[in-house]
Amino acid sequence: MKFTELPLSEEVLAGVEKAGYTECTDVQQRVLPLTLQGRDVMVQSKTGSGKTAVFLLTILEKYKRNKSGAALIVSPTRELAVQIEEDARLLSAGFPEYRIGCFYGGVGYKEQIEELASGLNLYVGTPGRLLDFASSSRIDFRCFDTVVLDEADRMFDMGFYPDIQTMFSRMVGPQERQTMLFSATLSTRVRNLAWSYMNEPEEITVQPEEITVKNITQELFHVTK
Ligand code: ADP
Ligand code: MG
Repeated sequence: MKFTELPLSEEVLAGVEKAGYTECTDVQQRVLPLTLQGRDVMVQSKTGSGKTAVFLLTILEKYKRNKSGAALIVSPTRELAVQIEEDARLLSAGFPEYRIGCFYGGVGYKEQIEELASGLNLYVGTPGRLLDFASSSRIDFRCFDTVVLDEADRMFDMGFYPDIQTMFSRMVGPQERQTMLFSATLSTRVRNLAWSYMNEPEEITVQPEEITVKNITQELFHVTK
């Protein structure tokens, strides 16, 4: 399926073209028709299968339709947050006024505070720093009508479950927002999260038997302390 066959606006397709995408990947073809209708989804798909574009294109198409509300993408690591921000800048090329901010720890607050003060359409970040800004009333979680949890299983591995619970408790209810969850595995704890905080999510599993990509050779080296 080509991106042009999806119900995407000219502006959103301009970003797709800028990114150099023409054909949808499996996960994009299966999930975008649902998320573009506003459905909540819980998606399991291997690394490198194109999940980022699923939630970014959904967020951008909603922006095109409403021009109101704000979107939040929560990522377990700074590196992933930065990668998502870069993809978002590329895919939002058709909306020059679209404002994106990226919030993570390990760096000073000043620049991030300035970014927040200017008002944003899309917030990308790691749980700790996002909650810091919520505590200082610089981010109001009630403004988000779209929420993405990327690499949900890794969030658990990194001990972010309490932070995620806190974030959801500060948001509007599941029925008043669209929530999308992406994970390499849909374990019981990930499903529990979906049951607690999502609105009848559609569950999509793409090629569950291999969690990593075939053409990447992996080796494990045991090292001493
Ligand atoms: P995942 O989050 O599933 O691990 P990403 O969203 O990071 O995967 O995508 C992996 C790579 O594939 C990225 O470099 C991205 O730019 C590229 N990509 C995504 N969708 C497409 C597409 N439809 N056509 C070509 N390349 C794509
Ligand atoms: Mg990803």
